[in-house]
Amino acid sequence: MTKVIKCAFCKGTGKDPFELLSAISGCQVCEGTGQVEVEEPAIVCVFCSGTGKNPLGARVPCIVCSGKGSNFCESTTICHLCKGTGKWSDGLSCTRCKGVGFN
Ligand SMILES: [Zn+2]
Ligand SMILES: [Zn+2]
Ligand SMILES: [Zn+2]
Repeated sequence: MTKVIKCAFCKGTGKDPFELLSAISGCQVCEGTGQVEVEEPAIVCVFCSGTGKNPLGARVPCIVCSGKGSNFCESTTICHLCKGTGKWSDGLSCTRCKGVGFN
């Protein structure tokens, strides 16, 4: 099962939020459509707080959700290593849950 959601990286505008290539360049995550498909069940990406942007500050999509803002997650068990935050104290993604926060 997949569902179509608004692209988090460009907030559904279809434009690159950082205008990396040009002001009219399309969003690299949704390829300009403003929408992305996610596998269900999907939860809000804890690594980027659903923004789709890399929380480390780089002007690139979140490495965990690929910029979609949501992750496929069947588990409701919070990852004990990162305590559900999806990241280590240094900001890197948790290797146990792969940044999803649950496993
Ligand atoms: Zn987009
Ligand atoms: Zn994310
Ligand atoms: Zn974890």
